[in-house]
Amino acid sequence: MKNYTYALILFLSSCTFEQVNDDDVVIYTSRQPQLIENLLSVFTEETGINVTVLSGDAQQLMERIAVEGKDTDADIFMTVDAGVLWQAGDKGIFDSVESEVLSERIPEHLRDTDNQWFGFSKRARTIVYSKADIDPKDLSTYEALALKDFENKLCLRTSKKVYNRSLIASMIEANGAERTERVVKGWVKNLAEPVFSSDTNVLKAVEAGNCKLTVVNTYYLARLIESNSVENLGIFWANQEDRGVHVNISGAGLVKWSKNKDSSIQLLEWLSSDIAQDMYARANKEYPTVDGIALHPVIEAWGDFKEDLIQVDKLGSMQSDAVFIAQKAGYN
Ligand code: FE
Repeated sequence: MKNYTYALILFLSSCTFEQVNDDDVVIYTSRQPQLIENLLSVFTEETGINVTVLSGDAQQLMERIAVEGKDTDADIFMTVDAGVLWQAGDKGIFDSVESEVLSERIPEHLRDTDNQWFGFSKRARTIVYSKADIDPKDLSTYEALALKDFENKLCLRTSKKVYNRSLIASMIEANGAERTERVVKGWVKNLAEPVFSSDTNVLKAVEAGNCKLTVVNTYYLARLIESNSVENLGIFWANQEDRGVHVNISGAGLVKWSKNKDSSIQLLEWLSSDIAQDMYARANKEYPTVDGIALHPVIEAWGDFKEDLIQVDKLGSMQSDAVFIAQKAGYN
């Protein structure tokens, strides 16, 4: 059965998967291998525990773990967005991990209430505007982007992306469903262009002046700044007078059928260490979940901001409400 599983993995995946030894910790992840490879080799150096990574699409990987069940090689499932982690938990692929280290290191709102998964980096989603066209004094909140002032100025990524569903979920939690629907309808009314397929494409449209402002995950802006691809984009921290900027996570949990639970928990705990937090967040220009870790210089330059302290598993449990509102509001 094990051979069959392995063959299935190779067949289904378009990814790197080295030979698995029984003692290896195997991570199934939607993260790009180059974002975690260096980090994991430091873990191996420090502990002698080898780590094997299978990269692929989050939905396919979690589906595969569920189908493989007790035959799975996966010890850890790692992905982005609390909406996806919650879904994986809902499918029953995780085991709760009671770890003093993780409970102490990872803030309570950035991990699952039942400790099935833990946030290891934060991903802020906020307003980015054209410096040539928008005075940041006129900006305030996600909700205000629905005002008539921004008619024909706003551009958005599609609501089919989990990032926007999680953002809408956070608005439902803060403002209720009715007001959220009105806001999303206002956004749609203000769109200057049809929705975009990626955060990077929408940023480029703002840079080009076709759109005047948008809402994106900050690491996409950081990448464009670092490659000197943009000069007209300003960042604005949304909702500083109320709940704060919408913050999502990347994270991981222990697979229920893991055969190396001790080593896997050791790896999860290690991911909350200072050195791992620094490397992991820096690799994709995200924010560490543990306080007091130095930031990547590009994001350091944007300064501090107040963040929405919503319990992140709500972003998952309210995902279907968010989809319903997006559909009703005509947000494609
Ligand atoms: Fe992303």
